[in-house]
Amino acid sequence: MTYSWNLGEQQKGSIGCRLIRDSEVPTALELTYSSTNKFTGEKRDFNYSVSIDSTPCNYGGQRYWFICPLILNDRSCHRRCRILYLPSGASYFGCRLCYNLTYRSRQEHRSWNYENARLFNKLRKVENKYIRAKRPWIREKYRRQIVATRAGIEQMCKTLEVKLLKTCKDLEK
Ligand SMILES: [Zn+2]
Repeated sequence: MTYSWNLGEQQKGSIGCRLIRDSEVPTALELTYSSTNKFTGEKRDFNYSVSIDSTPCNYGGQRYWFICPLILNDRSCHRRCRILYLPSGASYFGCRLCYNLTYRSRQEHRSWNYENARLFNKLRKVENKYIRAKRPWIREKYRRQIVATRAGIEQMCKTLEVKLLKTCKDLEK
């Protein structure tokens, strides 16, 4: 099955999902997708598996979970989660906690933070130029750059939730 997403107008993509079973029991979900870095235009292909765990349900049957594949501060997350997230600008899917952790932990997501830091630096520089600019047309030029940079930051921070719930439902059938 394939999921498609559309974030704003700039980011579009699709994800290929393949359920891996071991004698009928789902053990992993293989993800295939490519993501394009909005800033460098560099395209990277990803192909990896996310493990699936199961726990018995109160009403009988099994409840299925993804095991978060992210590594933070040299430690694997391994949390059970129902939804995997791929924030805009990030490379790998992860659980909500991984992508909402403190700034310090977030630094481990290098590509994500690199771009965020770059935009914040740019914003600060342009704001300083704006404050010092005397001529109205130059101020206007910097004002526009500030608006564009802020929009870029907003876009970066907007979390792209690729909910694999449909997959969970399929698993529970
Ligand atoms: Zn996690």
